[in-house]
Amino acid sequence: MERIVTYSPAYTLVPTYECFNRCTYCNFRRNPGEDEWMSLEAARQILIGLQGKDVIEILILSGEVHPKSVRRQDWFERIYQLGELALEMGFLPHTNVGPLSYEEMAQLKQVNVSMGLMVEQVTPDLLKTVHAHAPSKLPEVRLEQLEFAGRLRIPFTTGILLGLGETAADWAESLRAIAQSQQTHGHIQEVILQPHQPGESQLEVRSPCHGQTLLQAVQIAKEILPSDVSIQIPPNLIQSDRALLDCIAAGAEDLGGIGPIDEVNPDYEHRDRELMAELLKAQGWTLRQRLPIYQKYDSWIPQKLQLAVQESRVTSK
Ligand code: SF4
Repeated sequence: MERIVTYSPAYTLVPTYECFNRCTYCNFRRNPGEDEWMSLEAARQILIGLQGKDVIEILILSGEVHPKSVRRQDWFERIYQLGELALEMGFLPHTNVGPLSYEEMAQLKQVNVSMGLMVEQVTPDLLKTVHAHAPSKLPEVRLEQLEFAGRLRIPFTTGILLGLGETAADWAESLRAIAQSQQTHGHIQEVILQPHQPGESQLEVRSPCHGQTLLQAVQIAKEILPSDVSIQIPPNLIQSDRALLDCIAAGAEDLGGIGPIDEVNPDYEHRDRELMAELLKAQGWTLRQRLPIYQKYDSWIPQKLQLAVQESRVTSK
């Protein structure tokens, strides 16, 4: 049978890089007050430039404003408006902006075809190290987000970070928690296995997560996750072609959003799509575009969004 490997042609809009957490491995954040938020007009100009190009997904990715901050509502409204704008302009939004209240998530469902949040790891050990100054990274807060998304019937992407001082047993525990949520709600479309790679702006220098470690994580994920959950790996964070191919052979089947910049790992350029397609073809595999919502979830989203998705299904390659 033909083996298909998917990716999402995407562009990332960043409402703000400011974030009240300080994860030591972060290459994204700026201090609150040191970043000008993206205006709707600036976003409109970017989206105009993307129309007619090979982009379907608009990933709305943001640093976090504290839930109790007086600026939280403005921050939330900007994120909502960006989703609305992206939809109006013919794109499919997917928002990933940190933990949300149940009400915030319910509202964002109206302007997103899917949403996401990494579980990262459920072990509390990382709260003493890389997440010592990151209140959003409490494992129970992350798992609650999966629960909210499930109850709200939001197609959801989650995942774990690898190489931050956790163990393989920790990966298994986190993956089991995700699998359990999937068994309850059936809303997890994909799980990202994201290997840590060092970057220029990190507070603490850590060694890279190698291909062999990622391969081991793919094998464990394949054993633990239900078969209807796709395993995603980010090709720009995998050093060699061999390691990438080994992970796919072991069961990874999605390469995530590919666009001009990986905002979370700006030191690692995305691989060229054509070259990746050739690399996969040599193994008998086909690289294919997908939408940010898997077809089995189309009926979960609001009617207006269903029409936008159907249109994109017709025009995507
Ligand atoms: S990794 Fe995310 S939550 Fe942590 S500091 Fe960076 S932007 Fe904030």
